Amino acid sequence: MTRVRVLTLNAALGPLDYSVPEGMPVVPGSIVRIPLGPRQITGVVWDEGRLEAETVEAKRLRPIIALYDAPPLKPSMRRLMEWVADYYLSPISAVLRMALSSTSGYSGEKTVTEYRASGGMPERMTPKREQALDLIGDEQGTIRELSEIGEVSDAVVRGLVKAGALEPVEVSLDAPFPDPDPGFAPPALEAGQGAAAERLVGAVKVQKFTPMLLDGVTGSGKTEVYFEAVAEALRMGKQVLIMLPEIALTEPFLNRFTARFGCEPVTWHSGMRQSERRRAWRAIAKGEAAVTVGARSSLFLPYARLGLIIVDEAHENTYKQEEGVMYHARDVAVMRGNFENFPVVLASATPALETKQMVEIGRYDEVTLPARYGAAEMPTLETVDMLRDPPPRGHWLSPPLVQAIEETLDRKEQALLFLNRRGFAPLTLCRTCGHRFECPNCTAWMVEHRLLHRLACHHCGHVMPPPDHCPECEADDSLVACGPGVERIADEAASLFPEAKIAVVTSDTIWSPAKAGEFVARMEAGDIDIVVGTQLVTKGYHFPNLTLVGVVDADLGLKGGDLRAAERTFQQITQVSGRAGRGDKPGRVLIQTHQPSAPVIEALVSGDAESFYAAETDARRIAGAPPFGRYAGIVISSEDEGQAIEAARNIGTAAPEIDGMLVLGPAPAPLAMLRGRHRQRILVHARRALDVQGVIREWLEKIEWPRTVRVTVDIDPYSFL
Ligand SMILES: [Zn+2]
Ligand SMILES: [Zn+2]
Repeated sequence: MTRVRVLTLNAALGPLDYSVPEGMPVVPGSIVRIPLGPRQITGVVWDEGRLEAETVEAKRLRPIIALYDAPPLKPSMRRLMEWVADYYLSPISAVLRMALSSTSGYSGEKTVTEYRASGGMPERMTPKREQALDLIGDEQGTIRELSEIGEVSDAVVRGLVKAGALEPVEVSLDAPFPDPDPGFAPPALEAGQGAAAERLVGAVKVQKFTPMLLDGVTGSGKTEVYFEAVAEALRMGKQVLIMLPEIALTEPFLNRFTARFGCEPVTWHSGMRQSERRRAWRAIAKGEAAVTVGARSSLFLPYARLGLIIVDEAHENTYKQEEGVMYHARDVAVMRGNFENFPVVLASATPALETKQMVEIGRYDEVTLPARYGAAEMPTLETVDMLRDPPPRGHWLSPPLVQAIEETLDRKEQALLFLNRRGFAPLTLCRTCGHRFECPNCTAWMVEHRLLHRLACHHCGHVMPPPDHCPECEADDSLVACGPGVERIADEAASLFPEAKIAVVTSDTIWSPAKAGEFVARMEAGDIDIVVGTQLVTKGYHFPNLTLVGVVDADLGLKGGDLRAAERTFQQITQVSGRAGRGDKPGRVLIQTHQPSAPVIEALVSGDAESFYAAETDARRIAGAPPFGRYAGIVISSEDEGQAIEAARNIGTAAPEIDGMLVLGPAPAPLAMLRGRHRQRILVHARRALDVQGVIREWLEKIEWPRTVRVTVDIDPYSFL
């Protein structure tokens, strides 16, 4: 009898030992079904001696029930998971869950019944049925999925099936994906692009671990260049993963991909139906999905023969996961290339300072694209001093910006107004008594969303209808909106330019690739004159007729004050500026600010990125901040404030004294309450060479806290809230 150690998906269980029934071809990496008490659960057979578990006597061992019909996870993948668990101080079960993120991918079913509108109407129409049909539209899905889309119960959807309004469709879960053709439509590259492409292609050919920064200004054609590396990997029979920071960018990207390779790649994101997930997961695991385009979660899928990862817009903070396993997808992508031995390309017009530093010390190769593609020139950037040229009271668009919009519209060109704030107003208060609407679960203001007619908390999602009187003093009609959000800017633009067609682009309006596709189509058709958007519109899009960008409040990003505030502002404004003048018409960017002489604003206007990076790098070096030093955040939270404070104090008191390590706090977190939990924060600041994870592991192991207290450790944090 053989004994094997099986890693389960349940962090509380950890690894468990089982016996292998005679003749079952189990190897390390096999995905298996195992008994647990009366239940059956999923696990993966792990290598001997790598995971600790309680030893069970041989006679008490239970046998594995079944081996799933899926390829075993490769050794390199298992080593990557161990590394991620170790580095981010997370249970390895939680990492495994990300790899096995489609249950039906490795279990039996091969077809599924989905439903779609038949075009017929039910004989008996109810408000619920009408609502469901309305919301479902052309969508197709299982009963469960359609009930979610239709915001009704399963029973209502079943009723619609019975009445013939929805018809069944049998969907094969294993239909093969088309193969992208590397020779379909190779572009004519300009000299600079050609040289860059050659270097990437060279690295792909060698198939050795090579992290590369593909650095080129916005509009320089980075995508065309890395597509050549993708083509080479395809010719070699390798799989490719291209990561995008936002689901909203998928649609325009897919169009470009199809134009180059003749068919769509496989996509992977949180909005997929179960059947789509299963189909993609299997094709990826069996090596049949040639190119996968996905959000950060696609990084942990069990690719059979991966030979290249591209991290597009690699500087984006959305690559940092802020819940569960708090990994940074950019860094883990590089580690995956390391474990599996292939090149990883980080593409960005505004690389993260950490990445620039890796180039500086020779760890990463750099491939640079100096100019914009074709005839396009870089846009001109100017500031509007909001003290000298203020907008009228209660307005947010300054006279110079308004004039620029007017000129743009006169030329039948498009304008983009950027403000990184969703909703109508960030704060609502009572003008009679001063009462401010705060989220009951978080230390955060309720944000007014006028389009949806409600107040919403952007941290926990709590919503309420806007009250018609003040809950504090009961005054009627006394609520006032303070400050602008994109909806308010759109209102102001509409009153200034009543003829203009205006679109608001935020995660509230663009929540799926399909919605993003609609937006792109409307822009391209000239059906939109002014776009008002959040960071969602700052990157990826290519609209040749968009010639004016107005940054409504350049100071907003600097107010957070964390270590990356200036860098983030620089990146965001550079990216959004990059949307202007991408065709043959020149672009113009107006930056509204109260501090035109702030170093970051001056660097933006002068276009001197290098000296900005140099100054920021120096400042970080002096402060011992990343990449020259390291941080780790420890958040202690509980629904009971006293418990959180006490546990935090115990942890703080037990902090080890180590040369080159500073422990700050505990103190209430800036976001002192989140989703009903009180939060205390400890910040660990250490020199670069210190094994911070080892220190924290040993430190926390010795302390106990009540089960109702949650302690999370964030290694290399991006959020300091
Ligand atoms: Zn009041
Ligand atoms: Zn909240």
